[in-house]
Amino acid sequence: MSQIKDYEVIVVGGGPGGLCAGMYSARARRKTVCLEKFLPGGQIALTGEVEDYLGFEHISGAELGQKFTDHAKKFGLEVEMEEVVEVYTDGDHRIARCASGDLYRAKAIILSTGGSPVKLGIPGEQEYGGRGVSYCAICDGAFFRDKVIAVVGGGDAAVEEGAYLTKYGSKVYIIHRRDELRAQKIIQQRAFANPKIEFIFDTTVETVNGDGGVIKNLSLKNLKTGAKWTLDVGALFIYVGFRPNSNLVREPLKKDEGGYIVTNDRMETSVPGIFACGDVRSQLVRQVTNAVGDGTTAAVAAEKYIEALEDRHAQRV
Ligand code: NAP
Repeated sequence: MSQIKDYEVIVVGGGPGGLCAGMYSARARRKTVCLEKFLPGGQIALTGEVEDYLGFEHISGAELGQKFTDHAKKFGLEVEMEEVVEVYTDGDHRIARCASGDLYRAKAIILSTGGSPVKLGIPGEQEYGGRGVSYCAICDGAFFRDKVIAVVGGGDAAVEEGAYLTKYGSKVYIIHRRDELRAQKIIQQRAFANPKIEFIFDTTVETVNGDGGVIKNLSLKNLKTGAKWTLDVGALFIYVGFRPNSNLVREPLKKDEGGYIVTNDRMETSVPGIFACGDVRSQLVRQVTNAVGDGTTAAVAAEKYIEALEDRHAQRV
């Protein structure tokens, strides 16, 4: 039997932004729940090492995610394992409908739903998913000890996770479609200095080939010369970007051309009572540092929104 569960604030997504929003909201004595479909910590829990979160020179993503969760819970944030399938407004209520059939009802909802890895869409990618093709180095890297590993992409994620994979692989190829990386310079420099990493520039992966059981090699194409060849690998990690999970809200929501949710500087979306923070939000930078900043602002703005709502109700009575 589905149930209606009443809260004052619902946070959808348990990444750094969502957990920080939840912590501030619970700390402001609002009954707050964070709904997370997988594991609290979000993307960060799937990141090998974090070295750019102020105060932590070196911490694993999983440990940082756990610290965020524990800290938020200490202030009274409830964390429930629920997959939210729709968010909508009903008068002054904001509703999150879950795959379980349960409805969570509150005065404000903060969306911190992050995004999902972009797929290459090439032959063999889906077939060898879980059998050599992966989107998560920390989840799957250890399966490819002493194997040759390929990584596709030229952004922070590809280069950082490529470096992380040198812990396991005998060699890591980073295959990028241009001759210039998009990753931050410090991440690039470290990768260039890593003897286990070799870059293959101006090149795309055309197909993932295997023996029907596991991946064996990749068909590559140099975009400048047109040359084609195969590269023997034991695994392929794909890091070619990120697509926002921004399609939960039933009402029309303002988004940018990339599908990211547009907010103002109070994290208010175009639907009153619905706020957005972290990677799902349209902004220049997608780091843990600004996700927690967004989460803080969203929680405080949601609190002000609820106070104004309560004042209006009190005046009516
Ligand atoms: P990203 O910065 O968008 O980079 C995606 C990379 O994939 C680009 O190099 C792009 O090539 C390449 N690419 C895209 N489509 C491709 C295709 N079809 N075939 C081959 N290559 C393709 O994505 P990201 O690295 O996942 O990072 C996402 C966000 O998270 C960024 O804002 C990033 O700063 C942040 N992040 C930060 C850290 C960190 O600071 N430690 C770690 C991970 C992620 P082009 O360069 O040619 O466009």
